[in-house]
Amino acid sequence: MLNLQLGIRHAVGKQGPITLDLKSSAFDPKEKVWTRFPPEGSKYTPPHSSCDFKWKDYCPQVFRTLRKLFKVDAADYMLSLCGDQALRELSSPGKSGSFFYLTSNDQYMIKTMKKAEVKIFLKMLRAYYNHVRAFENTLVTKFFGLHCVKLAGANQKKVRFVIMGNLFCSEYSIHRRFDLKGSSLGRTTDKPQTEIDEYTTLKDLDLNFIFRLQKHWYQEFQRQVDRDCEFLEQENIMDYSLLVGVHFRDTRDRLLTGGSFDSDSSRGSSPHLSRGDTDPNRFAKIKLGSNMPIRAERTVRKTDIEPQIIGEPTGEFYDVVLYFGIIDILQDYDISKKLEHAYKSFQYDPTSISAVDPKQYARRFRDFVFKAFQEDKFDL
Ligand code: ATP
Repeated sequence: MLNLQLGIRHAVGKQGPITLDLKSSAFDPKEKVWTRFPPEGSKYTPPHSSCDFKWKDYCPQVFRTLRKLFKVDAADYMLSLCGDQALRELSSPGKSGSFFYLTSNDQYMIKTMKKAEVKIFLKMLRAYYNHVRAFENTLVTKFFGLHCVKLAGANQKKVRFVIMGNLFCSEYSIHRRFDLKGSSLGRTTDKPQTEIDEYTTLKDLDLNFIFRLQKHWYQEFQRQVDRDCEFLEQENIMDYSLLVGVHFRDTRDRLLTGGSFDSDSSRGSSPHLSRGDTDPNRFAKIKLGSNMPIRAERTVRKTDIEPQIIGEPTGEFYDVVLYFGIIDILQDYDISKKLEHAYKSFQYDPTSISAVDPKQYARRFRDFVFKAFQEDKFDL
C-alpha cells in the first residue's frame, strides 16, 4: 500500500500539458513509464521506508486527461489516495480473486487486475476515451489510473491495479445493493435470508423492486444504456453488470431484510417524494446514476418456473435515492468464456448462462435492465 501511495504521488505530481485531442501514440500499449524507487531515494524519487520497488504508469497522458474530463482535482486525488489515513481493504466482494481498496473519503476504489484484464483495457483505451468524452452521462465505470508495482529482486510478482470511481460515494448510506447482469443461472446470493444486510451483493434473482424513473430521466437512461451497451459490444466485452445501490428514505423501510418484507410497514403508494429534506443543494447534485430520488415498487415472484422474469409489481412504493453504473467491463469473450458457454450449454438453458457472446449479452442485459427500470407513470 505504501508503494502504491508513493507511486501515485509521483505519477500525479508530474505536470504535463493537457489537451483533449490526444495523439494516437498516447494510447500505445507500449506507452508506459517505469520508475525505480530505491529506499534511499533517487534524483526523481523521495527516500522512503518501504522496500526497493519499481513502479509503472500505463498511458500516463491518457489517464491525466481522463481525470481532467471527469473533473478530478489533482490535489484532491492525491490527498484521497495518499493521505495519512490508510486505504481500507474490502473483504473481497467479487469472485475473480481481485482485491479491492476504498479511500477513506469513499471517493475512489482500487481494484487489482490480472494481466489479461490490463491487456483488454489497453486495447480498448482509445475507444473508452472517445466514448466517455462523447457522453458525459455515460454509466460505464470511471477509470482514473492504471499502474503496476514490482518489488525489486528476481521472481517478484507484478501487482497491477486500476483506480476507479466508487459508485456509492454519497452522504446517504446504501441499504441494498444489486449486481444485475440479465442472466439467471446462479444469479442469487448464497447468503441465507437472515444474513442479508447492506453489504450483501444481491443478484438478478434476488431483485424485488422495479425502479421507476421520471419520464425525462427514463428516456435519458434508455438512451445511455443503449449507447454504453453498443460501445461494450463493439469492444467484444461481456460479463459486465449494472451495479445498483438503494437508499431507503424512510427509516422504517431500512429495517427491511431481503425476502422477509413486512408488508404492514410498507409506505403506501404516494407518488410524492419524502418531505423534510432540508438540503437545498439536493437537486443540484442529481445526475443519471447518482443521487436520484425515485420510487421503487416492490415486486414478488409468483413462480419459480421462469426465474429470469422480474416479479409482479405489488403497488407498494418506497421513496428511495438511487445510485447505479456499469461495472466489471474488462472481460472479453475469449476462448475460456467460449468454452464455459459450450460446457454449461450441455447442462443448462444456453440463454440463462452468463457467458454468451457480446451481442447476445448486450441484448439480454438491456432487455433485463429495461424491465427492472421503468418509467414512473405517476410522475408529477
Ligand atoms: P465477479 O468476478 O464476481 O464479477 P470481480 O472480482 O470481477 O467480481 P467486480 O464485479 O468488478 O469484481 O466487483 C465486485 C463487487 O465490488 C461488485 O458487485 C460491487 O459490490 C463492488 N464494486 C465493484 N466496482 C465498484 C464501483 N465502481 N463502485 C462501487 N462498488 C463497486
